[in-house]
Amino acid sequence: MRDDEMGTIKISTKNLTTSIQYETDNIRKEGMKMFKKVLHPTDFSDVAMKAFAFVKQLKSAGAEEVVLLHVIDKRHLDAVKTYAGRDFMESKGDWKEKTKQQLSSLEDELKESGFKVKVRVEEEIPFSAILKAEEEEGASLIVIGSHGKSNIREMLLGSVSEKVVRKAKNPVLVVRR
Ligand code: ATP
Ligand code: MN
Repeated sequence: MRDDEMGTIKISTKNLTTSIQYETDNIRKEGMKMFKKVLHPTDFSDVAMKAFAFVKQLKSAGAEEVVLLHVIDKRHLDAVKTYAGRDFMESKGDWKEKTKQQLSSLEDELKESGFKVKVRVEEEIPFSAILKAEEEEGASLIVIGSHGKSNIREMLLGSVSEKVVRKAKNPVLVVRR
C-alpha cells in the first residue's frame, strides 16, 4: 500500500469515528433533554413521596430543574365555603401554612441535591393546573404518582394521574404505589 493511500484510509477511519461519536453524543443529549426540566405535582401522599424519590434520582440522567406544584382543589374550597362554618374557613390559614412548610422542605431537599427549583401553588382543578404548568414552564417531563391521597385499591390510576397521562404534551413518568 502506498503512503498516500494509507493516509486516505486513516483519514476516513477518523472521520467515521468522529461521526459515530457525534451521533452518540447527539442521542445522549436528546435523551438528557427529556429529563432536563421536571414538573413534579404533589399532594404529599405516600405515593407522591415515592415519586419524589425518583425525581431526585433523575439528576444523574440529566435533570437540572424541578418545578414543584401543589394544587389546592378549587372544588373542595367551593364546597367548604358553601357547607362549612366560619371556623373551618378560618382554619384555612393554618392549612395553607402547613402546605407551605411541606413544599419548602421538598424544595430544600432538591436544592441540596443540586437542582434549580421553582415552587408553584395553585387554587384550581388539579389536572388542569398540572397541564397549564407543563405548558407555562416548558417542562420536558412530568413525574407523578399512580395514586394519591385517596389511593383506592380497585383503581388502576387515580383520576388526576389518568387525565395527566391522557392529556400531557410531553412524556409522563408514573411511579407505582
Ligand atoms: P382520586 O383523586 O381520583 O380520588 P388518588 O388521590 O388516589 O385518586 P390522584 O389524585 O390521581 O390519585 O393522584 C395521583 C398523583 O397526582 C399524585 O401522586 C400526585 O403526584 C398528583 N396529584 C394528585 N392531586 C394533586 C394535587 N392536588 N396537587 C398536585 N398534584 C396532585
Ligand atoms: Mn387525589
